[in-house]
Amino acid sequence: MYYLGIDLGGTNVAAAVVDEAGKILKKVSLPTPRGVPAEQVADQMAAASRAAVEQAGLSMSDIASVGIGSPGTIEPDTGVIRFWSNLDFSNVPLTALMAERLDKEIYLENDANAAALGEFAAGAGKGSQSMIAITLGTGVGGGAVLGGKLYTGFNYAGMEVGHFVIEHGGRPCTCGRKGCFEAYCSATALIKRTREVMEEHPDSKLWELAGTLEAVNGRTPFDAAALGDAAAGKVIDEYVDYLGCGVASLVNIFQPEVVCIGGGPSAQGETLMAPVRYILNREDYARNSVHRTRLVRAALGNDAGIIGAALLPLFR
Ligand SMILES: [Zn+2]
Repeated sequence: MYYLGIDLGGTNVAAAVVDEAGKILKKVSLPTPRGVPAEQVADQMAAASRAAVEQAGLSMSDIASVGIGSPGTIEPDTGVIRFWSNLDFSNVPLTALMAERLDKEIYLENDANAAALGEFAAGAGKGSQSMIAITLGTGVGGGAVLGGKLYTGFNYAGMEVGHFVIEHGGRPCTCGRKGCFEAYCSATALIKRTREVMEEHPDSKLWELAGTLEAVNGRTPFDAAALGDAAAGKVIDEYVDYLGCGVASLVNIFQPEVVCIGGGPSAQGETLMAPVRYILNREDYARNSVHRTRLVRAALGNDAGIIGAALLPLFR
């Protein structure tokens, strides 16, 4: 049997046929129709699904179920998207719409949770019993699989790993709190901090690499630090300090078998992971235990969400 995963994004709808081990057989991506009723978005999702199944050389009878990962406020138990500003969705009964179109059992989950599940089932957490996923992007997202099951909190709003406070009264966060993990460790926060430091250090190599403040990206401070630039080194040290603090706090609460870090800055590989691991080794409450959390890079990139969505029925 095979599973169909759908990644509903604001730009593209992707559908993939996935086997039980989480391997993608075929993926088809179509543009997300904008400014149309939800029924037409569902039509496009069904079209991508049928195309993926056909191109995999299968028929819909080979598909056990369909899982959808979506942004927004999701109710997995009712299959309703309560609210998603990007597509102007409010109270959309998405699983019902998709069941009408594909005549399959449909599962719905928040996209960050689906991505965490994908990494657990087929990526960095494969073979483990518990894993925390952290994604460093525009914000900081993530999810948790505990005891082999996706953990979402009683109201499906749990594991917002970007929004625990690591600096009381610190930088304002998009959520309204101050000092959140996200306000220090998102790729956005890294870029913002790099620009601040550039303004303080007009002689920094950061200027040579980026040219302008607008051109700074998540790689700029790492590249400048690698050239020995002191100001960039300061930005990276500070970033790693906060990231290590956040990771160690999560480990001390959950003691998961694996923590995986994905998103833009994780592309730095061991340049980022090794110093974060050093902090974890220093601050992990269980540092003397023979059983220690493994800190690794996420393995599946953008495919994590679609794989996790497909395998949702196996981890409820
Ligand atoms: Zn926050």
